[in-house]
Amino acid sequence: MSSTLRCIACDARHEPREVRYRCARCDDLLEVAHDLDRIGREHGGGDALRELFEARLGSRERPYHSGVWRYHEVILPDLPLGDVVSKPEGNTSLYRVEAIERAFDAAELHIKHEGENPTLSFKDRGMTAGVSWAKHLGMARVACASTGDTSAALAAYAAGVDGLDAAVLLPRGKISPEQLAQALAYGATTLAVDGDFDVCMRLVRELSAAHPVYLLNSMNPFRIEGQKAIGLEVIQQLGWRVPDWFVIPVGNAGNVSALGKGLIEAKALGLIDRLPRIAAIQAEAADPFHRSFLGGFRERVTVTARPTAASAIRIGAPVSHDKARRVIERFEGSVVRAVGEDELLEAKTIADRGGVAVCPNSGVALAGLRRLRTEGVIGRAESVVVIATAHGAKFSQVADHGEAANRPRPVAAELDAIVAALGL
Ligand SMILES: *Cc1c(COP(=O)(O)O)cnc(C)c1O
Ligand SMILES: [Zn+2]
Repeated sequence: MSSTLRCIACDARHEPREVRYRCARCDDLLEVAHDLDRIGREHGGGDALRELFEARLGSRERPYHSGVWRYHEVILPDLPLGDVVSKPEGNTSLYRVEAIERAFDAAELHIKHEGENPTLSFKDRGMTAGVSWAKHLGMARVACASTGDTSAALAAYAAGVDGLDAAVLLPRGKISPEQLAQALAYGATTLAVDGDFDVCMRLVRELSAAHPVYLLNSMNPFRIEGQKAIGLEVIQQLGWRVPDWFVIPVGNAGNVSALGKGLIEAKALGLIDRLPRIAAIQAEAADPFHRSFLGGFRERVTVTARPTAASAIRIGAPVSHDKARRVIERFEGSVVRAVGEDELLEAKTIADRGGVAVCPNSGVALAGLRRLRTEGVIGRAESVVVIATAHGAKFSQVADHGEAANRPRPVAAELDAIVAALGL
């Protein structure tokens, strides 16, 4: 075995094949701890690993054609490839658009578009790892609470596995119709709960504690391993160059934890030689992590999350708070900010108009970039990668913003009318 389950607080080790989400000794979060020395030794060090990952780029060989399983050796080395459930996922574009760079006054801005995954959000990366592990363990039922994208991904990945049933708990009326349609189409048992996400999260934890139901929220440490691949793939796309900044939206804080874990391991393995800074951005309507940051992380703040266009991050008690806090503290110079509704919608519109259709949650990250540029925390010449977490098409009800809003113009079915409408 190359990996164990390690408690992030007391360092207690657990057997990775045990179904467990929290430390038996102190009840804190667990992470998959890899034997990095051994992995490095077995594969000949950082240079050889880079070469291996480069050789797989563009490969048609399953599952190495996936943007997650290309990195199998550093994701879940103990998972037999025969248990991998892959669509494939990942291999998402890293966009660089001059008009968008100009709008954000940033000399080198890349948008990593995780909306290009099979269910149109980054959750597929975590779910290919989580569902593969569920299959490996021989589970018959998987479940999650969701603000919409986790449920779509869980439903999609479970749908491909014989004998695996998926159940999803959704806060009724608080997710987009497109996200709901996904869970239904993939055939998951879809429970619309009369409560918010945090209530759904509590219920699904109680459910999985008392019944043989495998929990696939991001407190499941195996999901984090798949999500690590976002950072690795960005670095590979940049020719193994580390950008100055990653900017990422934060809800339950699993993704920022995964980004940090992947980069720390990449440095330990010699894949990269330095760490970037990380800017974790929340919506003001659901800003507990930001509040904790403002208090120097002396206490863990929770809030009752209010409605926001960034509905995927409407979370008042982030489950992965402790992991995310460690990332912000470990990556020197990292910051947390919260942005308002107008700011996030305006930022989303800028990306959309630049031809990169992102979701409002990604708008939060872009608005965070704008704020940090204005503050001078991020310099104009610094290289920035913004993680766009889902596709704009999943959130069609989030209206175009303000006076610049683009609307369909009714026109008669006559060439003259069309010519006149075009001002020709
Ligand atoms: C889940 C999700 C997030 C937040 O990720 P966390 O890991 O919960 O912090 C952001 N954007 C979108 C679109 C999501 O689906
Ligand atoms: Zn512990």
